[in-house]
Amino acid sequence: MKLAALFEKFAGMGMTYDDLLFLPSYADFAPDEVDLGCQLTRKLRLEIPIVSSPMDTVTNARLAIALALQGGLGILHYNYRSIEDQIEEIRKVKRFKNGLVSHPVTLSPDDFIDEAVKIRHERGYSLIPITEDGSSVGKLVGLLTQNDYSRAFHRGSKVFERMVPVEKLKIFTRSELIDPSSHDIDMDRANQLLLESHRPVLLLTDDDGHLEYLVTRSDLEKRETFPRAATDPRTQSLLVGAAVETYPETARERLDALVKAGVDLVVFDTSQGYSKFEIDLVRHAKRTYPDLQVIAGNVVTAAGVRALCEAGADGIRVGMGSGSICTTQDVGCVGRAQGAAVYHCAREARRHGVPILADGGVSRTGHIVCALGLGASCVMMGSMLACTEEAPGEVEYDGGVRMKSYRGMGSMDAMKAGSAVRYSLQKQIVRVPEGVSGRVMVRGPISQWVPYLMAGVRQGLQKLGAQSISGYHTLVEKGEIGVEMKTAAARQEGTVHDVYGFKEI
Ligand code: 5GP
Repeated sequence: MKLAALFEKFAGMGMTYDDLLFLPSYADFAPDEVDLGCQLTRKLRLEIPIVSSPMDTVTNARLAIALALQGGLGILHYNYRSIEDQIEEIRKVKRFKNGLVSHPVTLSPDDFIDEAVKIRHERGYSLIPITEDGSSVGKLVGLLTQNDYSRAFHRGSKVFERMVPVEKLKIFTRSELIDPSSHDIDMDRANQLLLESHRPVLLLTDDDGHLEYLVTRSDLEKRETFPRAATDPRTQSLLVGAAVETYPETARERLDALVKAGVDLVVFDTSQGYSKFEIDLVRHAKRTYPDLQVIAGNVVTAAGVRALCEAGADGIRVGMGSGSICTTQDVGCVGRAQGAAVYHCAREARRHGVPILADGGVSRTGHIVCALGLGASCVMMGSMLACTEEAPGEVEYDGGVRMKSYRGMGSMDAMKAGSAVRYSLQKQIVRVPEGVSGRVMVRGPISQWVPYLMAGVRQGLQKLGAQSISGYHTLVEKGEIGVEMKTAAARQEGTVHDVYGFKEI
């Protein structure tokens, strides 16, 4: 059935991502040929459709850097002690151009060269450190670059036959490069050593020879190590966004400070975006800074989208009450099931030429594919990024499982730290939280987790016969990709069932 016909037939029903299933279509390309480039705002394009949520357990500078290197975008939250603290995080992202890479993609000496070819083809990495056990923190035994093998001639050879062994490489230990004043790695010195070495990369180990970092030449870094990095073409600095409250007393001051600090995009962050405050703020921002990209929200109705687009928004953030930590729908019986919200908002936004950012409710790659099929250009994720090593907070062990804290910005804990303004509760004496605090299982570094998620999305799009996100939108709109609503039994059938003790990864 055509998507529009399905929504007409079930008008008035709150459909979620899990209620819908897109039907496969003819494909004459492989999953790794799917292009995930997308339009985040009228003017800003990303190489992958992933944006991190402005939450204090999700996006700090460290996560924003790691995500931008993969081609996504981080939105810094505003729950810092001061505007200046948020600005400092922007500066950290903007300063990052030295190419210090932790947890790089590695291989073991016994892997086949075909693996290196595949990594280069699928993920664009051409410099691969080789470690004894193949892990990203294993003992360093060599380096493989694209000059060390030929795709055609060395298929079937083992990595150890072609790699440059560690004895022939100039390796530095991290302690040799520590700057005593900052206790960080002295990047000026690392860059100098790199240039003198005549090699494209500098490898840093711990004192026992275990790989710690890879330093690439600043100017080569983005092309060779992070070919999809989200960068400003003029300055080559990484792109970063920041959230602004819609509280009139501070919003304009924060907006001015963020623009001055060089932010690439602002997100007006409130759970009720269809409001006078937000509309006024969007108008003010676009009048004052016409070139600044502004994402407005959150809204879930066509009327909300229309109002914000007419005020000048460059992107619309959609979602109310669908987030994993949200209790808005319980507290106020208000919101919308995310599938319906994205569909109806995207239909309206298309009339204004404004892209939709589907925010919240993503807990697997199928949800991303569904959001895109419903008309979103990008998705914003909280829990799916709070689970990475780069997200703020310490790792805790629970029965041997690595966990991190994740809390809603409307939870009591986060509101005490300042975010009550997102829920317009800053002046209220009695505040009812609209979110909870919990924990998520750690999934590893962004450099591995995000490519894994994107591989899942590419697999989905290949089965749908869509080679790009814009192509997917067109095929769904024309009805060349059909959609069905799932029954409860179909939902059960479509996930793992009747097996015990299975492993997902
Ligand atoms: P997730 O990706 O974890 O499912 O959802 C993240 C999204 O939930 C955020 O981007 C934001 O829109 C929303 N959110 C964050 N904190 C809260 C909260 O405390 N309450 C509600 N209602 N929504 C929240």
